[in-house]
Amino acid sequence: MFGPPGSGKGTQAKKVAASQGLVHISTGEILRSAIERKTPLGVLAQQYMDKGELVPDEDVQQMLANAVDRYIAEGARGFIFDGFPRTLDQAGFLDQMMKERGSEIQYLIFLDVDHDELVKRLLLRGKTEGRSDDTLEVIENRLEVYKKTTLPVIEHYKKQGKFYPVNGVGTIEEVNARICAILRKS
Ligand code: ADP
Repeated sequence: MFGPPGSGKGTQAKKVAASQGLVHISTGEILRSAIERKTPLGVLAQQYMDKGELVPDEDVQQMLANAVDRYIAEGARGFIFDGFPRTLDQAGFLDQMMKERGSEIQYLIFLDVDHDELVKRLLLRGKTEGRSDDTLEVIENRLEVYKKTTLPVIEHYKKQGKFYPVNGVGTIEEVNARICAILRKS
């Protein structure tokens, strides 16, 4: 599940995971939990997340591979990744990791939402959920980082014929229906 901060990745990824019997892995959620538990990774990650920067590739990649292998050991049959990959290096890592495990990415679902709507949603989330990175200054930086570093990931999966854009503006149910239509068709 791919898209800018505030596009609804987490919400939609959870719904798809539940309906398709997939394991939902959110790198943002794992990092926030590490911060709460004050693990070494959490202490490191917080410095980046507070500023709206990306946590270094190597750390996030290691963390993701650990999570995937733990779920596979528990019998997971498929995954939906939310917030990963966020750089071209992470995309290359993910492809290689899946290949080594006899699988591959099937869809990159891109939730398309315009800049003003994103800022509006993130400011609202900052108020209701109290996420420390949902303040105007940090939001603008996250959107910048997204444009510069994360958007090129789209091209990577376009070349593989796996790019599926979805209009991310609408109710949660409307957007979910658009995603389900793609999963049904292909
Ligand atoms: P959002 O998409 O709204 O920014 P996330 O929970 O996906 O929310 O991510 C929150 C923060 O966690 C990011 O701004 C970044 O600092 C860090 N993060 C999450 N996933 C990654 C990743 N794949 N690589 C590097 N940093 C990440």
